[in-house]
Amino acid sequence: MPSNYIALNTLKFILNQVHGLADVLKLDYYSDHDMESMNLFLDAVKDFSDREMAPYFKEMDEQPAHFEEGKIKVHPQVGVIMKKGGAMGLISGIFDYEDGGMQIPMMVHTANTYIQDCANNHMTGYMGLTLGAAELIIHFGDAALKAAYVPKMLTGDWAGTMCLTEPEAGSSLSDLTTKAIPTEQDYYLLKGQKIFISGGDHEYISNFVHLVLARIEGAPAGTKGISLFVVPKNRINEHKGLEPNDVNTAGDFQKMGQRGYCTSHLMFGENNDCRGWLVGEPHRGLKYMFLMMNGARIAVGRGAAAIVMAAYHASLEYAQERVQGRKIGKLGKKKVDSLPTTIINHADVRRMLLLQKVVAEGSLSLLILASKYKDLSLHAKTPEEKEKYHLLLEILTPIVKSYPSEMGNIAVSNGLQVLGGYGFTSEYILQQYYRDIRIFSIYEGTTGIQSLDLLGRKATMQGGRAIQLLIEEIKQSCSEATKFSDLTPYTSMLESELESFKEVLVVLYKLTEQGKFELFTADANHFLELLSLIIIAWMWLEMANESMQAIQKDEEPHKEAFYQSKIHAMKFYFNYELPKTLGHAKILKNVSGLTIDLDREIFV
Ligand SMILES: Cc1cc2nc3c(=O)[nH]c(=O)nc-3n(C[C@H](O)[C@H](O)[C@H](O)COP(=O)(O)OP(=O)(O)OC[C@H]3O[C@@H](n4cnc5c(N)ncnc54)[C@H](O)[C@@H]3O)c2cc1C
Repeated sequence: MPSNYIALNTLKFILNQVHGLADVLKLDYYSDHDMESMNLFLDAVKDFSDREMAPYFKEMDEQPAHFEEGKIKVHPQVGVIMKKGGAMGLISGIFDYEDGGMQIPMMVHTANTYIQDCANNHMTGYMGLTLGAAELIIHFGDAALKAAYVPKMLTGDWAGTMCLTEPEAGSSLSDLTTKAIPTEQDYYLLKGQKIFISGGDHEYISNFVHLVLARIEGAPAGTKGISLFVVPKNRINEHKGLEPNDVNTAGDFQKMGQRGYCTSHLMFGENNDCRGWLVGEPHRGLKYMFLMMNGARIAVGRGAAAIVMAAYHASLEYAQERVQGRKIGKLGKKKVDSLPTTIINHADVRRMLLLQKVVAEGSLSLLILASKYKDLSLHAKTPEEKEKYHLLLEILTPIVKSYPSEMGNIAVSNGLQVLGGYGFTSEYILQQYYRDIRIFSIYEGTTGIQSLDLLGRKATMQGGRAIQLLIEEIKQSCSEATKFSDLTPYTSMLESELESFKEVLVVLYKLTEQGKFELFTADANHFLELLSLIIIAWMWLEMANESMQAIQKDEEPHKEAFYQSKIHAMKFYFNYELPKTLGHAKILKNVSGLTIDLDREIFV
């Protein structure tokens, strides 16, 4: 049976100590919860994931979702998870009491779904998309839509999806062509097709509630003409029963990873009888959908971070057992007559393990911080605080989505490498993680699109206010950490990174002033990588600072090795990863323009 590779102690350290869940629980909105109840909830989710998710992880890869006789077949455990997860509140948890929720903080929701992701990343999207779709109806739908759909979605009886992508409209949603034709009734008739729809159809759920972006006939071109509709697979008839709504499944995409998570091709209105109900006002659909997309971007980062963590622990377990080669002695010679050693004693293997550790735990810390910002943006005491945390969340979101996904590919590749030839074989789980993580930098907006969002929109909004706030937060952490002399070399390094980052900003902002927008965003990917490296350094400094405090307090002497390991990992990050900013800063400051359109042909 595959193990559930989750480091619950590290998760709780980051959640409770580094990012201070207790402070968030003091807000009025969460007053019914306390640290004890939240930690018990996480323990229950861990048990649930060990029992109901981890044992099916390999099986779901080996028996992938597929299209057969007009239907999509998925693993039967998907149906079990939806019902049991729904009953446990894993879909409804974050919603208001009045909407059937439990008002748990986003920080705890992220932690709980992260535990599930570590156990089986093929499974969590089914519940996650249902939550996201319900959230859209709750926020923007009218009372009738809410009453008709939300209760059954929160219990996991019905599932939700997000239907954006079309064959000719992927990154560029402004080109979507699915049509919504007004009728005399309260509904529109939908016509079009959507591809790559995660969790879009299968036999273990009696109804799918699709949240569909479409263009009302006669709507303006571009993103301003897009509206949002609830389009159920089966509509509710006058007898409160279900009848088919002319939503048909044309196929299921076969994939290199996440093979247990179906990816459907859906046809709407082939027989001109597909009814869709408008959510909110016409032409504001993309704006509404951003609520679900922003949540989904955090969920994607979380899923990737969890895969990195699971892969790290699987490769660590192997490195502790595999005996191969001899350790190089202090004098630089291998003692050939000495006994062979386990590979964890080789410096290069330790490098690969440490790289995975810093990416896994750094990403997790970022995820929990972003979730805290979400909680504060909604429920902080003053409007000024809400606005501040909203802006901080905005600037972090593209990085939360992209860093765990992009660096996750590299980290998991290193995890596989730790196993040598065995890593390439199906017998070991690393190859599955390696295939599974590949999609994370593609769906929910590719890394290219996230980079453009970060530099082209977030870094410039309100005159760069979000970036300013972020820099202030990082500086604040640096000044707190300087009380430990062991940390001052690292706070100085991070402060000097901030100065260099500001120099890059000056160069980039000048390009916008000069109207050179294509040049401004040409190296957006390097900008995202540069800022990501700085932000993860910040996460590690905070973890080291918290560890130093815990060691100084000396209340948990049995945990000293745990805290020392965090400080060691921080040092590794600052020495091995952070210096990579130099290359990115240099590329950005050079403004070479080598990648933008030129008069001459390059690809000959
Ligand atoms: C497994 C899976 C699950 C998915 N689930 C869903 C789902 O549930 N719902 C849904 O609606 N969609 C879903 N998608 C679709 C996914 O979001 C898109 O595949 C993704 O947004 C990219 O669109 P595309 O595939 O059309 O690629 P394209 O948009 O054609 O992009 C191709 C390449 O060009 C780059 N590019 C495109 N435009 C620009 C630009 N302006 N500037 C710079 N670079 C650019 C991209 O970064 C990319 O590298 C899923 C996809 C997959 C594979």
